[in-house]
Amino acid sequence: MRQSQLFIPTLREVPADADVKSHQLLLRAGFIRQNAAGIYSFLPLGKKVLHKIENIVREEMNRAGSQEMMMPALQLAELWQESGRWYSYGPELMRLKDRHERDFALGATHEEVITSIIRDEVKSYKKLPLNLYQIQTKFRDEKRPRFGLLRGREFIMKDAYSFHDKQESLDETYEAMKDAYSAIFSRCGLNFRAVLADSGAIGGKDNHEFMVLSEIGEDLIAYSTDSEFAANIEMAPVVLNEEASSENPLGLEKVETKDAKNIEEVSRFLNVPATKIIKSLLYLADGQPVLVLVRGDHEVNEIKLKNELSASEVVMASEEDAVKWLKTKPGSIGPVSVSDEVKVIADQAVPLMANSVCGANEEGYHYLNVNAERDFSITQTADLRFVVEGDLSPDGKGTIVFAKGIEVGHVFKLGKVYSEPMKASYLDENGKNQIMSMGCYGIGVSRTLAAAAEENNDENGLIWPLALTPFDVHLIAVNSKNAEQASLSEELYEQLKSEGYDCLYDDRPERAGVKFTDSDLIGIPLRVMVGKKASEGIVEVKIRKSGESFEVPVSELKSILKREWDKLV
Ligand code: ATP
Ligand code: MG
Repeated sequence: MRQSQLFIPTLREVPADADVKSHQLLLRAGFIRQNAAGIYSFLPLGKKVLHKIENIVREEMNRAGSQEMMMPALQLAELWQESGRWYSYGPELMRLKDRHERDFALGATHEEVITSIIRDEVKSYKKLPLNLYQIQTKFRDEKRPRFGLLRGREFIMKDAYSFHDKQESLDETYEAMKDAYSAIFSRCGLNFRAVLADSGAIGGKDNHEFMVLSEIGEDLIAYSTDSEFAANIEMAPVVLNEEASSENPLGLEKVETKDAKNIEEVSRFLNVPATKIIKSLLYLADGQPVLVLVRGDHEVNEIKLKNELSASEVVMASEEDAVKWLKTKPGSIGPVSVSDEVKVIADQAVPLMANSVCGANEEGYHYLNVNAERDFSITQTADLRFVVEGDLSPDGKGTIVFAKGIEVGHVFKLGKVYSEPMKASYLDENGKNQIMSMGCYGIGVSRTLAAAAEENNDENGLIWPLALTPFDVHLIAVNSKNAEQASLSEELYEQLKSEGYDCLYDDRPERAGVKFTDSDLIGIPLRVMVGKKASEGIVEVKIRKSGESFEVPVSELKSILKREWDKLV
């Protein structure tokens, strides 16, 4: 493609409202333009990259046995009413009426549409399992659209849905989708982890988010230094790595602690380390009082607590609740002599402590030398705390470190959440009516583009990985007005195309400096510059990523480009 004819509106200035690198660079290099908050056009370069990502997604989905189809973005409200999401989705779902005053939604996702199709068309176990996908525009009226393509209100998603008669079949497809996702994000050249995520109300362990590690990510991930283990910080299990204290129990003692309330104040006042203090917090789990105990240096993980109690809601108790159940305000709460109505649940590290400090359920007082069993009983022990960096990895390999991540994909076992209310059933081998099980699998295609741009850039611009680059080679006629340079450039343009390279040829009558700056900004991996030595048959090759450049006789250009390309693969 001749650059003189290509629509690439580049910008010299950093756009004022773009606050992350990918957004700034995609705007500046002429890949995208904003039409409204969270709504973008893909210009020719952006569209080329999008196309490459879509093709990688397609190839891997097809390989994994999923079939491509296409569903409407405009969806009847009745379907969303059947699943209940018309009422629960909230303002993120874009709603509209047609000329007959019928309600519609713009698809935020397609569980309802696909389930209605399968319910109507599939009646027998013989037709199952099925795995179907589409690559399509989604609409979500996000509260805070931001970071360009990373959180849009209109964006491109690959969404797949699978239908099963047996749990094993769902398990199998889930694993196949996970593998396909790993292949997709590896081919896109991204540094990612498959992260165990919280399934919320649906429950179950089969919910993974694919996260690209990035400083600007909105999620916190705990992963192992030495293995594949990665989990959302809320889900990462803690492996007990402490021994029980060998101290001999000392006599229980009540001491005045005045205004010292939180762990830090009590630790300072009594001159004991936080590891010797039992942190006691009163929660209401579905309205019932639960006293939660963790070691003073640990933090309660409310998701683990909620899952452990099988509660639908856990909230920290108010001052009044504390007075009602423990006869004291928070700050002096502890597990000694609490009423039987209050359940005491302790983190697994608590029973290992000896001669600890805890609140005395009397304002301004704490106990010293508290020992579990002797002084208080625990109704339930579990892993209740947040992991911290340096904890052992749950798989026993390496230690935990934290990183932020951008969610680019999500695989999820839905079970019967949609098929039950929408009555997607089939006849089993015995002619009995059964509800199908479902899985759903999403990839943010446009978000993946931005995540790749976020990961691959320097101070001069974008640096595309080979698999996603809008063009393979950037050929630059350094001075297009010079006849020798122009004619050698034209010759090489034809040669590169015939060798199979998708070549962008900068034939514009611009100054060399402008051409080089634009080339760095656009970020094509290999550059060939035809300059002063054109008359000697010598050109310069530059590698965008390393900045390395060297002179090459035209006769060797083919083999050198091949060599450099292979190095970048
Ligand atoms: P998030 O937590 O980031 O809001 P989500 O959990 O709502 O995402 P899913 O419903 O799982 O997202 O959608 C599947 C995929 O679609 C996500 O993994 C993400 O890559 C992409 N995606 C979701 N919302 C957006 C958005 N507003 N803009 C761009 N991509 C998005
Ligand atoms: Mg998600």
